Amino acid sequence: MIVMKFGGTSVQDASAMLHVAAIAEQYGDEQILVVSSACSGMTSELLKLATDSVHISDEERIQRIAVMENRHISIVSSLGIEEQVGHRIHELCNGLRNTCEGVALLGECTPRSSDAIASFGELLSTVVLQGLLQQHNASTWYDAREVVKTDSGYQVAQVDFSLTQSMASKKLKPLFDSHRIIVTQGFIGSDSDGNTTTLGRGGSDFSAALLGAALHADEIIIWTDVSGIASADPRMIPEAHFIETMSFDEARMLSFFGAKVLHPETIIPALSNNIPVHVRNTFKSADKGTTITQLGDKDAIGFRSVIGKQIVTCVNISGIPGTDYYNKKFELLDQISRLSGQQPLIHARVGESETYVYDAPMHHLSQCIDKEQNLMNITVEEYSLISAIGPNLRSEHSKKAVGKFYETVLSVDPQPVFISGIQPQTVSALVAPDCAIDILKALHPHCS
Ligand code: ASP
Ligand code: MG
Repeated sequence: MIVMKFGGTSVQDASAMLHVAAIAEQYGDEQILVVSSACSGMTSELLKLATDSVHISDEERIQRIAVMENRHISIVSSLGIEEQVGHRIHELCNGLRNTCEGVALLGECTPRSSDAIASFGELLSTVVLQGLLQQHNASTWYDAREVVKTDSGYQVAQVDFSLTQSMASKKLKPLFDSHRIIVTQGFIGSDSDGNTTTLGRGGSDFSAALLGAALHADEIIIWTDVSGIASADPRMIPEAHFIETMSFDEARMLSFFGAKVLHPETIIPALSNNIPVHVRNTFKSADKGTTITQLGDKDAIGFRSVIGKQIVTCVNISGIPGTDYYNKKFELLDQISRLSGQQPLIHARVGESETYVYDAPMHHLSQCIDKEQNLMNITVEEYSLISAIGPNLRSEHSKKAVGKFYETVLSVDPQPVFISGIQPQTVSALVAPDCAIDILKALHPHCS
């Protein structure tokens, strides 16, 4: 059994949905659990509608829901399945209208209402998708809230893994006896009172990993709009290629240092159950994509990808002797975190001086820094953060490649700050922002 997760762009319109149907066909007799996101943009629109319902007019609220309803109706009408599923779309949209009216009447949008409203995106997209798949396959629609069990932490609900696992094997698995394909929703679940919850933005990948683990799937395929995880950002480096296999740690480092395809943390349930996760392109289904496994390609040497964060801010702090700067320093760091909404990416300490690197431009931070100059020496500088990532850069075999990294960075920026050894998968440098692209271009040919 394979779990296939389709992201928002893979179900954004009729033509995208036809690609999904073709993929389901390519898999012949294989049993498939389809976990789908909402049509792209829907979740954001629904969340906005939820909070706006408190203050907009009845007409505007009704009008905005009509636009969403029409979008789905026009998809099913182009797919020629309006007769089969049109009524279900109307039913769901009636539910959405009622929930939003409730918010309007109460004049308050609670996190619980917000989750209930957000869930309609996935409920709608899956009704459409199942209607389409039904034409050629024995398929059924399944409400993920029946099995994905969470606490009541609305908007970022925590999953009860063992309950979800037992519900999935009791209720979901037997459906494969009579259906080749089951279509369900990502992102949504329910709490012990049966209220709808959501797993946080982008939560569908997590749903797929979770259900894959619960059902002991053979593999999980995350279908998206790019052909896997690339050796560099193709917009900057057109020669970038997709990496066939990588370890979970490499994927994690890539995402930490700037890659956007996948949040690797969300696939942990799959990997910790030894289920490989593939990232593939719905629109180019012949492309191999990237396979992520716990161990990855252990024999690979050197670095296999390069990535940059265009602007990071380095805050260097050292205390002025004789002053009681210690508590002030923590206050300052606290303030920076609140202002930037971030914890430092990197923290390094040499004796009494410390460096904190934040993934944010400087003007966000300077406001709180100015006030503290009398107790601490603080300097703030903007850099680009360039990183090379490979399975094990500490190994003897990778030494040459790491040497190349240092040499190449220095050939473009004579005064970088190297950061290495934090994780065995990465070596990084802080460089002048106007050198960043040239450095990435010079480094990429050294990817193994
Ligand atoms: N539809 C949800 C979102 O946009 C979940 C997902 O797509 O993964 O955040
Ligand atoms: Mg996503």
